[in-house]
Amino acid sequence: MSPDSPPPVMASEAQPSLTRSPRTFGPRDDRTSTRGRCTLVGAGPGDPELLTIKAAKAIAGATVLFVDDLVNPAVLEHAAPQARIVHVGKRGGCKSTPQAFIHKLMVQAVAEGENVVRLKGGDPFIFGRGGEEVEHLRAEGIEVEVINGITSGLAGLTSLGAPLTHRDHAHGVVFVTGHAKPGDAGPDWPQLAAAAQQAKLTLVIYMGVSSLQAIQSGLLQGLPASTPVAIVQNASLPQQRDALTTLGQLEATMASEGLQSPSIMVVGNVVQGARAWASQEAARHAA
Ligand code: SAH
Repeated sequence: MSPDSPPPVMASEAQPSLTRSPRTFGPRDDRTSTRGRCTLVGAGPGDPELLTIKAAKAIAGATVLFVDDLVNPAVLEHAAPQARIVHVGKRGGCKSTPQAFIHKLMVQAVAEGENVVRLKGGDPFIFGRGGEEVEHLRAEGIEVEVINGITSGLAGLTSLGAPLTHRDHAHGVVFVTGHAKPGDAGPDWPQLAAAAQQAKLTLVIYMGVSSLQAIQSGLLQGLPASTPVAIVQNASLPQQRDALTTLGQLEATMASEGLQSPSIMVVGNVVQGARAWASQEAARHAA
């Protein structure tokens, strides 16, 4: 699709005065009228079939796509053959100030009239700096739409047959990062553990592999060593690997199973559901 081609008409555009999407932010003025536009799209955890229909339509309408590392290339099959695909993840070679560089590329493409899709793993608004990108684009007067994706923290435990909430085990869920930005001490693990214990909360830890030791020892100050933990690497992909363990055995299990990034860790009694399902499956296969 050339930059001049009209993008596919979506429901929200057909009647703009009536159906403006609540997830469309900006513009602050009419500077966007002659420019392209930008959509942040959640590509889901990995399995391309977990993409939403809305995401697939946005990908199909893009003239240029900026793609993160953790996006399964299979979702790009929805893209138009002539669309330009730019891999901008850190592993793609943008070593210095990658985020500023990505911002610049996106703003430039919109200024050139492109229909820009920014494809991010999981959900664009769960970590992965989607919030920073939206702020930056809005500050440039660019209209941004955000299309949710299934976050890996949800898909991970679902793949093991267990829910993140359960009336008997967890009143709520905390999505928390194990990797804060430089200069930020990050989560107070002992405090978080105490809150999780008291309020019956499931902890879903993203980007925790490199700080495993600190996370484990911090959480053990507020949660029993017997607290069930699930670790899921490459959730929803054919190469998924996972382990069920306890908080006391977390680091040892990670090492013995050779589990690495990208992994999510789920801490809490809901993980018992995964244990139960695993033993039922084992019994079924043995029969
Ligand atoms: N926006 C993403 C998260 C980006 S942060 C989302 O909603 O899923 C990157 C972290 O997400 C990784 O370090 C890892 O902790 C987690 N992650 C992303 N994809 C994953 C996958 N397929 N399996 C397990 N963890 C994943």
